[in-house]
Amino acid sequence: MQSIIEKDKTYIADTYARFPVAITHGKGSELYDADGKRYIDMGSGIGVTAFGTADDEWVNAVTSQLAKVQHTSNLYYTEPCAALAELLCEKTGFKKVFFSNSGAEANECAIKAARKYAAEKKGADCYTIVTLRGSFHGRTLTTLAATGQDHYHELYQPLTPGFAHISVDNIYELTALAARTKIAAILFECVQGEGGVNPVPKEFLAQIAEFAAKHDILLIADEVQTGNGRTGTLYAYMQCGITPDIVTTAKGLGGGLPIGATLLGEKVQNVFGHGDHGSTFGGNPIACAGALSILRRIDDKALDEVKAKSAYIRGELEGAKGIESISGMGLMVGIKAKRPSIDIVKECNEKGVLCLTAKDKVRLLPALNIPMDVLSEAVAVIKEVCAKE
Ligand SMILES: *Cc1c(COP(=O)(O)O)cnc(C)c1O
Repeated sequence: MQSIIEKDKTYIADTYARFPVAITHGKGSELYDADGKRYIDMGSGIGVTAFGTADDEWVNAVTSQLAKVQHTSNLYYTEPCAALAELLCEKTGFKKVFFSNSGAEANECAIKAARKYAAEKKGADCYTIVTLRGSFHGRTLTTLAATGQDHYHELYQPLTPGFAHISVDNIYELTALAARTKIAAILFECVQGEGGVNPVPKEFLAQIAEFAAKHDILLIADEVQTGNGRTGTLYAYMQCGITPDIVTTAKGLGGGLPIGATLLGEKVQNVFGHGDHGSTFGGNPIACAGALSILRRIDDKALDEVKAKSAYIRGELEGAKGIESISGMGLMVGIKAKRPSIDIVKECNEKGVLCLTAKDKVRLLPALNIPMDVLSEAVAVIKEVCAKE
């Protein structure tokens, strides 16, 4: 394992503070490192491997497409891409889909769609996109500008102009902003993931939605992390009492292959014409075949399982020694412990349980189908580590 780590440190740009673990293979919610040590995967590659590692159904879907055609470019039609878009629209009521390769790109597409819609409908000076403080929307210059955390902005000035941030639960900031700036769209996560697994209060989402409806401002839900069954509904907005005009998603949709999707609702369904947007890899048949197999499996039974496991985790951890509070929705769980989150994650790693951090929280994003016995084994370790003085 040491040789992999040394080579990586020599040749890979130093942007990631990696844990000293080199994963070689796995099955379901269990992973193995180059020294043969077993880990329980409570992070699923940051919410990506929705049904676990090397899941049979997903592997079959991907490899059978791989043997047919791996890429065509968007000059031609392919079946998996059309079938995935159809299923996404059927399951959500959205009208059209644009495929890309990541969450940031899905958000870029949403921002472009909102800018074009607003410029055509409300004038070229209507371009401001409002986002929430504490949000995370991606690493491109534009999605960094959208991200409502100053520390991400400092190194890369100037960022794309036309973004403004308001605080969660402060609708007056929005109305005050609207009095001096034309607003094209409001972009938000229903549960802020990277920002600390913080659900945005439903009452505030309702206030935003009411204001947006009154002023023909588009609502964009960033469901890159919350989407695809993670929170107990197919998309988190479905349990928040709002209907966005645009939904972006990625992470869990592909089950481990890069894909992003931007779902366009009634208002914006025809905003793009030929040449207005594009992506060489977007809608790649292999990524789409894998995603189709994932999306088909996120039915009521799978979602009920997510809710039951979420309740189990909360029941075990709420009020446990060393734990101050639990946040999140479904299998997106934030643990505020007495000790620093990074220390807890490091100790869990050593004990064979892979967890994530989100600011001061330990973040859990296990596979939606993690077996109960594996889950309870992991929860016992997390509990034990949190309880340490
Ligand atoms: C991860 C994430 C992104 C960025 O996705 P990438 O695939 O890394 O570009 C955007 N928004 C949210 C809410 C995310 O969690």
